[in-house]
Amino acid sequence: MQHKANFAKETPILSMTDLSFDNVENAFAYKSDKDLKLSHFLFKTMGYPLFVPIATRATPLLMKCGLPIVNRMVRKTIFKQFVGGESLIATAPLAATLNKYNVKIILDYGIEGKEGDENFEKATNEFIGVIKYASTQPNIPFISVKISAIASVELLQTMNEAPRLRSGIHDHEEEQAAWDNVCDRMYRICEAAAKHKIAVVVDAEESWLQDPIDRLSIEMMEEFNIDEAIVYNTIQLYREDRLNFLRLSHNIAKQRNFILGVKLVRGAYMEKERTRAIQRNYPCPIQPNKESTDKDYDAALKYCISNLSNIAFVVASHNESSNMLATQLLNENGIEPNHPHVHFSQLYGMSDNISFNLAKAGYLVSKYLPFGPIKDVIPYLMRRAQENRSVSGNSGKELNLIKKEMDRRKKATVR
Ligand SMILES: Cc1cc2nc3c(=O)[nH]c(=O)nc-3n(C[C@H](O)[C@H](O)[C@H](O)COP(=O)(O)OP(=O)(O)OC[C@H]3O[C@@H](n4cnc5c(N)ncnc54)[C@H](O)[C@@H]3O)c2cc1C
Repeated sequence: MQHKANFAKETPILSMTDLSFDNVENAFAYKSDKDLKLSHFLFKTMGYPLFVPIATRATPLLMKCGLPIVNRMVRKTIFKQFVGGESLIATAPLAATLNKYNVKIILDYGIEGKEGDENFEKATNEFIGVIKYASTQPNIPFISVKISAIASVELLQTMNEAPRLRSGIHDHEEEQAAWDNVCDRMYRICEAAAKHKIAVVVDAEESWLQDPIDRLSIEMMEEFNIDEAIVYNTIQLYREDRLNFLRLSHNIAKQRNFILGVKLVRGAYMEKERTRAIQRNYPCPIQPNKESTDKDYDAALKYCISNLSNIAFVVASHNESSNMLATQLLNENGIEPNHPHVHFSQLYGMSDNISFNLAKAGYLVSKYLPFGPIKDVIPYLMRRAQENRSVSGNSGKELNLIKKEMDRRKKATVR
């Protein structure tokens, strides 16, 4: 008998002590046998040593040539695994399926790298459209925003490098006017979010762009995070200075009486950061090793959980021990799993064993779900391929979980 996705909202929730990320039946209940086979094929292919390096170079070029066969192949494989659809409306069936398992969505309009005021305005209106749409849906509490979708990378870099701009004073009128436009766009997005009660999570980007993003996020929090968290900044704990930055941000929030919203991540641009630091001969901002990143990540979790009265945060990680630690800390501190200031999030297409088991145990969990035309989400897809490229790493982990569930289903059918 073929396994159709079975719907499980009525199942009683697990208690904290029953929580396990090894339960693959919960993890993949939303996937049919066919979907599971596709995921198996994809992660297996990404595990071949030469596949990802070649595919990540060739795919963007082939996509630019507009060959229909390439488009079709991408759409049926990696796009289906990691993206919600080509348009907002196309994400609806998936959102409805996830809702049946109490899994929510951080909706991400997956535009990247489009420059020019016209594109920035278009993106701003698109973000506002996503907010309005989210407010009509039962399980989309967040949208994510990349500031580089509404501001030029060059401007962000200038703002990052020119300390005098931090005071808001700058002698180049043109840049100041351009920055005012960015602030205005972000204000419009956050204003719509506050009106429709949807939270805006600002993605963290490369360290050489991040300072103005942090300042803008904090300014928006001061304006909109008075009674509840509408704006969240992202903290990358692979940076040596970020645990301290979390504390500093919290101090500002306490002084100015707003709720600090933060999404905690390890960080996605490590290789790029290291290469640039070497090329330009400056001290690399990244931690010396993985253990230091893990240590700061877990310390940040503890800090947020100890300050829940005025910090709202998202545990955005595929690391099982960090996710488990967060649940243990909540339990030890007598905090309900569904406290409105604590969310968990994993990228769509990865770590379903964490997301679906947490959701079943009553935690607030969202899948980070990008959508957009295939050509626009290619950079996002290539990052996912890179992340899942080694059999000893993520792709091996995902593959083992999928195999385990396929075996379990086979045995269940024989019985
Ligand atoms: C919902 C969600 C939203 C995200 N949003 C963002 C975002 O806005 N900005 C962003 O940059 N990333 C973002 N990410 C990606 C994230 O930063 C990580 O790249 C990814 O999740 C892997 O980290 P992990 O905690 O899941 O797990 P792990 O697999 O335990 O950690 C891998 C990470 O550890 C760090 N690391 C690995 N090796 C070393 C080393 N030798 N030295 C120091 N550090 C090391 C790197 O950050 C690496 O990505 C997001 C992830 C999720 C799930």
